[in-house]
Amino acid sequence: MNPSELSLTEALRQMQKGELSSRELVQASLERIAAYEPQIHAFLHLAGPSALEQADQADARRRAGDASPLLGLPIAVKDVLTVEGMPCTCGSKILEGYLPPFTATAVKRLQQAGAIVLGKTNTDEFAMGSSTENSAYGVTHNPWDTSRVPGGSSGGSAAAVAARFVPAALGSDTGGSVRQPASFCGVTGLKPTYGRASRYGLVAYGSSLDVVGAFGRSAADVAAVFSAYNGYDPLDASSQNLAAAQIALQTESKPRLDGVKVGVPREYFIAGIQPEVEKAVRASIQTLQSLGAELREVSLPHTEFALPVYYLIAPAEASANLARFDGIRYGPRAEAESMWEVFYRTRGEKFGEEVKRRIMLGTYALSAGYYDAYYGQAQKVRALIRRDFEQVFEEVDLIASPVAPTTAFGIGAHGDDPLAMYLEDVFTLPANLAGVPGISLPCGFDSDGLPIGLQLMGRRFAEADLLRAAHAFQQTTDFHLPVPGLGLG
Ligand code: GLN
Repeated sequence: MNPSELSLTEALRQMQKGELSSRELVQASLERIAAYEPQIHAFLHLAGPSALEQADQADARRRAGDASPLLGLPIAVKDVLTVEGMPCTCGSKILEGYLPPFTATAVKRLQQAGAIVLGKTNTDEFAMGSSTENSAYGVTHNPWDTSRVPGGSSGGSAAAVAARFVPAALGSDTGGSVRQPASFCGVTGLKPTYGRASRYGLVAYGSSLDVVGAFGRSAADVAAVFSAYNGYDPLDASSQNLAAAQIALQTESKPRLDGVKVGVPREYFIAGIQPEVEKAVRASIQTLQSLGAELREVSLPHTEFALPVYYLIAPAEASANLARFDGIRYGPRAEAESMWEVFYRTRGEKFGEEVKRRIMLGTYALSAGYYDAYYGQAQKVRALIRRDFEQVFEEVDLIASPVAPTTAFGIGAHGDDPLAMYLEDVFTLPANLAGVPGISLPCGFDSDGLPIGLQLMGRRFAEADLLRAAHAFQQTTDFHLPVPGLGLG
C-alpha cells in the first residue's frame, strides 16, 4: 500500500514497528501533492526539501530510542497559525510575504511531539467565510468534485486530509470553520471547547469564539493530534488551567455507547435542509441508538438567533482585531504622503471585499449610537444561547445534529449573496457562542456522491465523550473510509 493511503494511526504504528520510515511517509505525501495539488490548490506554502531533512532527523531519533507520539508524521497547518520559517498570509494580500518570528503554541506542541509541518493551507481571508472562495490566493477545490467548494474557512486543511496529502491538519473554528469543511470533504474535524487549546499564534478573528481544531480521517486520528496540542498555555489568557486531555482510542475494540444520552434538537431539523442530509443524519442517529445510546428529543429554543448574534459579535471583534493591520507593523505598505494616507491606502487596497464588509458591520455594531441596539443586545442573547446548552446538558450527554444544511455547493454558487453564505453556518455557530466542543464526522453521501457530516456537541471540556462516540460510530460504519477520485474520474 502507498504510505500516503495509511491513516495516521496506522502510519505511526508501522513507523514504531520499523516497517515504515518517516522519509518514506513524507516522500509519499510530497509525491501525492505534486500529482494532485494543481487540481486542488490546498496549499499556500509548501515546506519543500526541509521536510525530508526533518524526516531523516525523525528517523534518526527513532533509531536512538525516541518514542515521541507523533514522531515523523507529516501534517498541514491552516495559514492563520504562525509557523516560524514559513510565511503567514491568512489568505490576505495585507500579509503577503509576512514572516512571523514565532510558532503558534498548538503547532509547537505538535512539533515537540515529533510532527513535521509540510505546509500552510488555504483559507478564506482572515478565516471569514464558509467556502475558501474569499482567499486572496484563489479557491481550493473539493477533492470529491473539483467544481465544488471544500467548505471553509479551513478548506485547505480539510481538502489536504481528504486528498490524502497529509494524514492530519490543523484549522481554526470561530463559527464552524473546522466542522463545516470536514463535512464537505468527508473527513473528521474537531472543534474543542473554547479555552481548551492555546490561541497564541492564531491570528485573531473573533477572540471570544476562536479555537484551534484538528482534522483527520477518523476520530482516532483526530484524538491523537488533539491530545498532543491541547492544554494550558500561560501565553493565552483565555486558556483554561486544566491538565491536557489525553485521549487514546483503541482501534481494535468494538466500543458501545450504552448509557450515553443523546439529545436530538428539534430546532436543527428545519425547512430548507437538503433532504438527503436530513435522511443521512437521522439514520446515523439511529446507528448511535443501535450502539446503546438513549435518544431524547430536546429543544435549544434560541437557536434561530445564533446567526444574527454571531454575525454581530464576530465582526465586532474582528473590526477591533484587524485594526493592527495598518501597513506599518506587518506585511506590505502602500506608499503615501501622510501616515493616515498610508493606513487608508494599505487597508483599502489590501483587504478583500468580505473582510471590509465585516469591518464595517462590526464598527457599526460597536459605534456609540448603536452599541446597545446591536452589540449589547447580541451579548445578552448569546447568554441565552449558552443557557440553552447548559440546560440541555443537564438532561443529555451529547447533542446530535447536521453540520451544515447542504453538501458542498458549487464554486461561485453564493458569489453575490453573502447572506446565503452565512446561512451555511446555522448549525455550527451555536457551539462557538456557547463555547462547547463539537465534532463533524462523515455519515453518508448524497446522490452526487458528496459527503454528508454528522455533528456531535458535548459539555464544556468533554472532548473525550465526543471522540469516543465518534469512534464508536466509525467502528460500525465505513463512511469515513472511501477515497475521493480527485476530479480524475
Ligand atoms: N463562516 C463563518 C464566518 O465566516 C465561520 C468562519 C470560522 O469559523 N472561522 O465567520
